[in-house]
Amino acid sequence: MQPLYSLKASESANDERFDGLTHLARSHFGVMAVLLTTGAGESQQVRTCDGLALGNASGLYPFDLAWRRADTVFVVPDTHCDERFRDHHLVVASPHVRFLAACPLPAPDGAILGTICLLHDQPRELDPTQQQVLRDLARIAASLLAREQADAHLERELDTLRVSERRMALAIAGSGTGIWDRNAATGEIHYSNGWKALLGYAEHEVGNRIEESYTRVHPADLEYVKATIQAHFEQRTESYEVEHRLRCKDGSYKWVCSRGKVVERDATGKPLRMIGTTTDITAMRLMAEQVQQTAALMTDLTNEIPGMAFQYRRLPDGRSYFSYVSAGVRDIYGLSPEQLAASEEALLGIIHPDDLGRYQASFDDSARTLTPWRLEYRVRLPGRGDSWRQGDARPRQLEDGSLVWHGFITDVTERKQIEAELQVFATTDSLTLLSNRRHFMQQLDAELARVQRTAGYCATILMFDLDHFKAINDRWGHSVGDQALRHFAAILSSQLRKTDAAGRMGGEEFAVVLSDASIDQAVTFARRIQSELANAPVLHADARISLAVSVGIAAINASDVNTETTLSRSDMALYRAKRGGRNRIECH
Ligand code: GH3
Ligand code: MG
Ligand code: MG
Repeated sequence: MQPLYSLKASESANDERFDGLTHLARSHFGVMAVLLTTGAGESQQVRTCDGLALGNASGLYPFDLAWRRADTVFVVPDTHCDERFRDHHLVVASPHVRFLAACPLPAPDGAILGTICLLHDQPRELDPTQQQVLRDLARIAASLLAREQADAHLERELDTLRVSERRMALAIAGSGTGIWDRNAATGEIHYSNGWKALLGYAEHEVGNRIEESYTRVHPADLEYVKATIQAHFEQRTESYEVEHRLRCKDGSYKWVCSRGKVVERDATGKPLRMIGTTTDITAMRLMAEQVQQTAALMTDLTNEIPGMAFQYRRLPDGRSYFSYVSAGVRDIYGLSPEQLAASEEALLGIIHPDDLGRYQASFDDSARTLTPWRLEYRVRLPGRGDSWRQGDARPRQLEDGSLVWHGFITDVTERKQIEAELQVFATTDSLTLLSNRRHFMQQLDAELARVQRTAGYCATILMFDLDHFKAINDRWGHSVGDQALRHFAAILSSQLRKTDAAGRMGGEEFAVVLSDASIDQAVTFARRIQSELANAPVLHADARISLAVSVGIAAINASDVNTETTLSRSDMALYRAKRGGRNRIECH
């Protein structure tokens, strides 16, 4: 790009003028030498010298000119008679200056730009007319210098301007922006080289008719582009701005942002000239598209996976809210995302009252320890009954002290049901539906522990073994034997309190733990079982099959090392009951 201005201060031309000036002065005054200096004090420099080979060194300037006053001619008729100059090296040695006259070069603002100085090797005078001539010469030199300085200043400013102009050109080129200038009256349009480069064209490859320009606009965008320009032409818009596609030299399309403004109109408001820019936004559009795709993917993911993804915040002042919930909130809580975002209250009414305390405490815990939140809890959805939820989330502390959890909640109702079934399966005897041996032993463990930790608390264990059961099997068959086992189990169960436990220990052997019961109370319980059993024979076809049972009772002692110890005592009592003739109760 061409610089806007060009100006070169001609210092050499000035040098010639200064040389002429000093030469003229020397011949006019008939002196040995004439010096012209610029600057002042330390920075003083001999600009030109006629009659002496003094060169350019500032140290050579003969006298300190601190005494100068604008427009005053300073004259030393004889240096030998002036003690200020008598011992100066230019006086005592070559060129043996005897006479000296100097006049400052005054700038219009009163500043002193330099000095014109006459030197002679003989004493002499300078009459008032000669002094006036010297002053006139000083003024001419001063105006030459002032112009030179002004030119130099202008040159410096131009340099600065050129740098910023270049910078702007680079910035425009770097931003992928081209410039255009359209004559709305003639339909001519001029593009900057940057504009042409944007589409891959060389300088001469783009015509300057607007009709040609429109052929480069993507057909799908053309109508809209024209309408937008028209709106601005008719002054319905402040400026023109439109995003559209432009065809490049290689046939591909680029997305651009075109901005412009009419800068000249005729008296009737008809547009004459419009200037604008075209910026390549292909990369930006691509990025925006990718961001949009990523966002869509995120939304799809969180909405399509079963369950509810969420972001939950707790502010330093204690307020908390769901800042994001996925569409799954409808299945999980029966609420819309908006309902839950609006208020957490709605949720508190949905969580099962028995689990609400745990729910809140678990979040408090997670907040305090910054450990993951994990909880299984029940919800009560109107019209859908109780169901189970499992929540998992990780907390993170933010700089402002607030906490944010990211996590998800899933419906675990089915799993909880299976778990419950498995639990029953693992702990009950399928024939009698009483606890199996393993589970009964756990219940006995718990009871022993309770006896051991509670002073004055007593509990008892009873072992039951049906008498001559083998004979029932032998006579009535195995399935009737099974029926008899279920029959006895039902009688046992019917006599238990909530806090008692009964189990099938194997075969036709059963056990009961009576909590908070003495041996006497256990004997009473055993008698009741025996009489119930006697009163209720097993009915099979037309037959009534009588059953009898032997019982061994033992106290659960705090000193028992383990439940095997306890069991062995009740076993021993049972053995005694059998040996004593059966259908008996024995205590250890
Ligand atoms: P006792 O009075 O000495 O206890 O005599 P008993 O016949 O009851 O004792 P024994 O231990 O000899 O026989 C127990 C029988 O219980 C043997 C076995 O076939 C039967 N039995 C064990 N489990 C079951 C079962 O699940 N169903 C049926 N029908 N019989 C079972
Ligand atoms: Mg037995
Ligand atoms: Mg038996």
